[in-house]
This record gives sequence, C-alpha cells and structure tokens, in this order.
Amino acid sequence: EREEPTHFGAGPAQLPTHVLQQAALDLINYKDIGLGIGEISHRSKDATQVIEDSKTHLKELLNIPDTHEVFFMQGGGTTGFSSLATNLETAYVGKNGKLGKCGYLVTGSWSQKAYEEAHRLRLPAEIIFDSRKYDSNGKFGSIPNESEWSSNLNGDYAYVYLCENETVHGVEWPNLPECIVSNPNIELVADLSSNILSRHIDISKYGVIMAGAQKNIGLAGLTLYIIKKTILNDIQNANQTKLDELNVPVTPIAFDYPTVVKNNSAYNTIPIFTLHIMDLVFQHLKAKGGIKQQEVENELKQKSIYDALDSYPNFYNLPVDKSVRSKMNVVFTLKDSSLDGKFLEEASKLKLTGLKGHRSVGGFRASIYNALTVESVNKLSKFVKDFAEANS
Ligand code: PMP
Repeated sequence: EREEPTHFGAGPAQLPTHVLQQAALDLINYKDIGLGIGEISHRSKDATQVIEDSKTHLKELLNIPDTHEVFFMQGGGTTGFSSLATNLETAYVGKNGKLGKCGYLVTGSWSQKAYEEAHRLRLPAEIIFDSRKYDSNGKFGSIPNESEWSSNLNGDYAYVYLCENETVHGVEWPNLPECIVSNPNIELVADLSSNILSRHIDISKYGVIMAGAQKNIGLAGLTLYIIKKTILNDIQNANQTKLDELNVPVTPIAFDYPTVVKNNSAYNTIPIFTLHIMDLVFQHLKAKGGIKQQEVENELKQKSIYDALDSYPNFYNLPVDKSVRSKMNVVFTLKDSSLDGKFLEEASKLKLTGLKGHRSVGGFRASIYNALTVESVNKLSKFVKDFAEANS
C-alpha cells in the first residue's frame, strides 16, 4: 500500500502502484506454484510464457508488423549504444560486402554518447549534424530543419541513428526526418528509452528501436528491441573473414542479436522478474485503452505543465524550442536562481519530488512519464503557478 506518488524523477521512474502490488505478490508466490517468478529457471514453462506474453502484448500495443521481431536483452541504453553499432555494421557488411558509415543526428547528450561509443569501437562514425551548431546559444535545445542538413547525407550508411527523446535536455523529435525514412538504403536506428509507448509510432519506418526499461516500462536492467527481420538475416550472412579484413568489432555473444532472437531472448539468463513487471505494465496499458488513451493523457499533462510555466515568462525560463519540446521531460530554470533551493524545498513539502535538473545542465526537470497521472501533473502545475505568484 502507498499513497499515489508524485515523483518527477527522470529514471528510474515511478511505476503504476497496481503493477507493483501484483509484482510484489508474484515475487513471492507466482501463480500459486509455491515459488516466486524470480526463482524459477528462465527456460521453464512459466518463464517462457512470460517472454511470450510480453512479446504478444507489446506487439498488440504498438501494432508491430510481421516484418519486425521483438526481443529483450540484459543491460540498458548504454549497452544498446555498443550493441547497435556492432550488430548494424555487421549487417551492412553481410549485405554489401563493404563498410557503411554510422551516421548520428546529435540533438542532446544521449545521441552524443551513442556517437562517441561507435567512434570508440573504431567504427566509421560520423555526426550528420550536431544541433548545437545550429543554435544561437550553441546549446542543445532545438532541431535544425531537414533542409539545413539533409545535404550532409553523403555516401553509404550502415544506419542513421537518432534519440527520439533526449531525456537530459528535454528535446523530442516531433516527427521522424523524412529524408531518412523515405530513403530505402538507410536503416533508421532509434533510441526510445524515455518515450516508448508514450505516443503512436509507425514501426514500419524503423530498422531498429531500442528502449531501456526504467522510465515508461519497468525496472532498470532490461532493454527491449524491435528489429526488422531482414537486418537479422544480414547479420547472420556476414562473412567473418570479410569482417576481420574490414576491422569490424566482434559483437559479444550475449549481445549478438540473431543469437538472442534464436534463443527467444533466453540465450543467457534473462531477468524474468524484471520482464514480468514490463509485461504487467503492458497489460495495465492495454486495460486502460492502449496507446490511444495514454497519448490523450500525455497531451493533457504536457499542456498543463508547459502552460503553467509559459504563463510566467518573467519568472521561468524554458530553454527548449517550442516545436521540439519533450512531452516526457520538461526542462526549465528560474530566472532568479537564488530561489532554486526554496523551489525544491516547497515542492517537496507538497510531496512533489525528483524535480532537480540533470547535474550537467542544472535547473529543473519534471519527467512526466506514462505512470504520472493527469492529477499529479496538475498538482505540479498549480505549484509552479503559486510559487511564481508568491515570489515574483
Ligand atoms: N538513452 C536515453 C534516452 C536515456 O535517457 C538513458 C538514461 N537515462 C540512456 C540512453 C542510458 O541508459 P542506461 O543508463 O540504462 O545505460
């Protein structure tokens, strides 16, 4: 039992109480088998059923077509940065017999880190654009118009990578870039760690989707992938001699996508309790009306908080361009930073917690993931207005 939390932390984030209550019971005695879900073999009938159910429910929620496969892997977003780079380069070599560039659209610190990892792995990583170069303040907070950078797309790409929602900087792609999506020779690879299941997406446009669980869908430690099946084939068809000749790093076995898929996400021990929680989140979302309903709520939430902040322009500063404001991570500062401490203190008296901005950018950040209710966000919006009134 607990009071409905109003925790706006960026992740790990709060989950629906109802999901955790069920998970707590299942941790001790799953389906009355006398053992908890985390205490049985990852290859047992019950564990296999959890894997199957999670896949089925995710496919239903996101309308995943037969062209794509779903799998789960240990690790998080950072593990994904490395595994995406080596798997996708291997696929490209498998298909084309030569290296393709790893193109990155850098719009915040997570896409920047993903680029750095591909570069560190000695892959031919290239920044297609860094949004700071197009920003009048030289900061992350905008996304340049496609016409300003599409001509930078030169040559052959193993993939083009973007982070759909930059959790730290509060920048979200409102739409996928058409010049990538409409190019049949480019696989789009996207990090949806902080906005998966927050809105409708068209899976057919993606080569690979990667999402760490600890924001919208569960606990840390597990990552979900949705991948085009042709990419899996291309990885399998890659010739090791050729890969060696081209210096493509070998993917560690636990992160080799075809191996994980062939073994139904249980090549090695999948954290089945963590996956079960993810499935309970999927079921919870399905029961309340799916992504359609969630998107309606998320729209109300983002409107409520941004309207509150926007109505005091002399008091709050919103550094992100309106057109690319994140609907999950609302970033703002106080014009008078000497009030920062007071803001946090008074918020926490109202049990509004987790509002401190990322250590690299300071200020404040309200993460309004799926589990935050409209009422919780309205409480924060009211506080934002009251605080401005009282301290202006
Ligand atoms: N991508 C995004 C969008 C993130 O928000 C984060 C973490 N908050 C990561 C990647 C890295 O995830 P992890 O800490 O699980 O490696």
